Amino acid sequence: MRCLVCGAEIPDQAQFCTNCNAPTGYENAPLSQSEFFKHPSMKKCKGSITSAAIILYACAGLTLLLNVVLAQRVTAFLDIILLIGLGIGIQLGKSRICAVVATVYGVINVIVLFMMTGKFSGWWILVAGIIAITATFQYHSAWKRYQNTGAFPN
Ligand SMILES: [Zn+2]
Repeated sequence: MRCLVCGAEIPDQAQFCTNCNAPTGYENAPLSQSEFFKHPSMKKCKGSITSAAIILYACAGLTLLLNVVLAQRVTAFLDIILLIGLGIGIQLGKSRICAVVATVYGVINVIVLFMMTGKFSGWWILVAGIIAITATFQYHSAWKRYQNTGAFPN
């Protein structure tokens, strides 16, 4: 059989995994999606998802300060709501759609700012989007693989 914690091949009658020492009773209780996300092998992926969300929250904060407070541009509230919504979707929902939308929004943002100011700026949203796309797709393929084979990413 296969250890459901580390994915190592172990003897069928083993009570503990010979590789990671996890009790093999895990076999009868596969991890839920949220437990899977907390597994040590998902640490890097989880870190990237959190980072992308934090960048989006920071961009929302910056937009609030620069556009709403300083420039009195109230319509920028829409951007703030979008950025926070995308951040939450990525962080809590591990949403690939939110990751793609953030990237597209990031590209549009860079183009618009370039046309307005002649400078390349605002590319942090684009960076967050690309990190989020990589990490959310990685997460979903790892989760699918775990469901099919019980194996964790190496
Ligand atoms: Zn193991």
